[in-house]
Amino acid sequence: MAVLTLHNTLTRRREIFVPLDPQHVRVYVCGPTVYDLAHIGNARPAVVFDLLARLLRRIYPRVTYVRNITDVDDKINARAAASGEPIASITARTTADYHADIAALGVLPPDVEPRATSHITDIIAITERLIASGHAYAAEGHVLFSVPSYPAYGRFSGRSPDELLAGARVDVAPYKRDPADFVLWKPSPPDLPGWDSPWGRGRPGWHIECSAMSWKHLGESFDIHGGGTDLIFPHHENERAQSLCAFPGSRFARFWVHNEMLNVGGAKMSKSLGNFFTIRDVLAKAPAEAIRMALLRAHYRSILDYSPAAVAACRADLDRFYRALERTPAPADAVPASVMDALCDDLNTPAAFAAMHALADRAMGGDAAASGGLLAAGRLLGLLGSTPAAWFRGGEDTGWIDAAIAERLAARKARDFARADAIRADLLARGVLLEDGPGGTTWRRA
Ligand code: AMP
Ligand code: ZN
Repeated sequence: MAVLTLHNTLTRRREIFVPLDPQHVRVYVCGPTVYDLAHIGNARPAVVFDLLARLLRRIYPRVTYVRNITDVDDKINARAAASGEPIASITARTTADYHADIAALGVLPPDVEPRATSHITDIIAITERLIASGHAYAAEGHVLFSVPSYPAYGRFSGRSPDELLAGARVDVAPYKRDPADFVLWKPSPPDLPGWDSPWGRGRPGWHIECSAMSWKHLGESFDIHGGGTDLIFPHHENERAQSLCAFPGSRFARFWVHNEMLNVGGAKMSKSLGNFFTIRDVLAKAPAEAIRMALLRAHYRSILDYSPAAVAACRADLDRFYRALERTPAPADAVPASVMDALCDDLNTPAAFAAMHALADRAMGGDAAASGGLLAAGRLLGLLGSTPAAWFRGGEDTGWIDAAIAERLAARKARDFARADAIRADLLARGVLLEDGPGGTTWRRA
């Protein structure tokens, strides 16, 4: 059996992954809050954990991959108040859009996709357990987690007590015993979503939703919990505190796997900064496989700089792979050890793609085994799902060249001549010669 190593945020080390039950691997990943179209940054965790699930399924007999939908949240309420669209309509429409967008990127559905609003009973049950054991208290219709009741609080995310206090100051409220205490349940006025509870009509906080859904579908202890690095604090710190206190003696998630952020122009892509492209924006401009590959080309624990030129480079790589498959057709064979070893090495996708290029070289030279291996590797990565004929049918697309020229122009304007020269050299390596003239930059085949 292949040996998988994963970097564990909990121990801050790479560890050999050994599941609690080798017959059944259990994974939970935080899914989207459904109030708006997903951007290409939101697609990164979806694609990274899709690949991890595919790899686990290749290695273990059974995998349960749970990825939730957060369909009760103040951002959703705010959107409904602003637009007048009913909440149920916003969440249903956005969930369907999310499914369509990430399916286009080759993301397979998770085994279970729980919705927070279908787990209110579980949320109330966990909250009652926390109150009964002194880790939470009710006050003025709220229920708060008592941070001082859990001395290890902050250790997971590596926050010092000072940092925790600085963060908590933003959120002072008279009903809190300690400024760091956070909400498990809060009252809901009649015009907002709410459920009857022992503390009156109210709605859950975000963190407790994930504790309840992972418990319900995977049990008190499970194998892997995933999400973006931006969720380590406070979301995952709070999830851990809640679950470990609600289920003494349990371990909650043993491995915590976090993807780094996707950046554009040096900043994290985010809705609040407004620097985002939606998944459908980019799907309109480039083949879905090129976008998926662009999301996997950087190692998941590295920042990924997203640009049209990066997508274009992946498209050129895929052209090369498909050309090799066309030259030497072969049925998909076993995934070659070079690719499997790379993926089992903490999902080292850059190394996997390098191995695929080596296979493509051999397939170009007529090696049918290499071609079958390349196809199998592509399928494991959720790529090469097309036939070469279908892939190339659209005729030559030169959009990637225009995108690279635009990026070079931007680099020159920013006086980043090293980058501009690198883009020119990269195009030349792919057979495209740039010519700068008074009317701008044109290109021809070198
Ligand atoms: P949000 O819409 O901010 O709640 O994010 C939903 C999911 O997308 C979370 O798992 C985040 O970690 C992830 N995410 C948001 N922005 C980015 C980004 N720029 N790069 C990678 N992941 C992101
Ligand atoms: Zn979560």
